[in-house]
Amino acid sequence: MRIEKCYFCSGPVYSGHGMMFVRNDSKVFRFCRSKCHKNFKKKRNPRKTRWTKAFRKATGKELTVDNSLEFEKRRNIPVKYRRELWNKTGNKKNESVMRPHMELKKGKELEKADAINEVKKNIHLIKAPHAGKARKMEEKMVEKLQEDVEMGED
Ligand SMILES: [Zn+2]
Repeated sequence: MRIEKCYFCSGPVYSGHGMMFVRNDSKVFRFCRSKCHKNFKKKRNPRKTRWTKAFRKATGKELTVDNSLEFEKRRNIPVKYRRELWNKTGNKKNESVMRPHMELKKGKELEKADAINEVKKNIHLIKAPHAGKARKMEEKMVEKLQEDVEMGED
């Protein structure tokens, strides 16, 4: 059993309720009640009929995207304004005016450097804290064993 969505009001269409209309191009329209079907027969646009979900979405009455997710984004790094990429217009001799592509390249390089720095700074987040240590331990153990063997030989 499947609960379909009403074409007109976007409400649920439970089995045994409402009606289904199949247009001669085989598009299926389902209606949750006669009210929705009648409005459809009158050729009303659900986006212009005030009581429908489509209207509410179209006019911004409903939260289509949850804005609260935006708040949770981490913004602990301030947006920097790069003086060296900016503030150079007006000066005709300047590179940024004469060769803007150079400036773009510079900006990209700076961005890359920033990205690398950030990865370096937060490497502990992606790397297991004791990764690499196990191997060192192993090497040490092997060394110790070798020493012991050497001691025994003497
Ligand atoms: Zn409906």
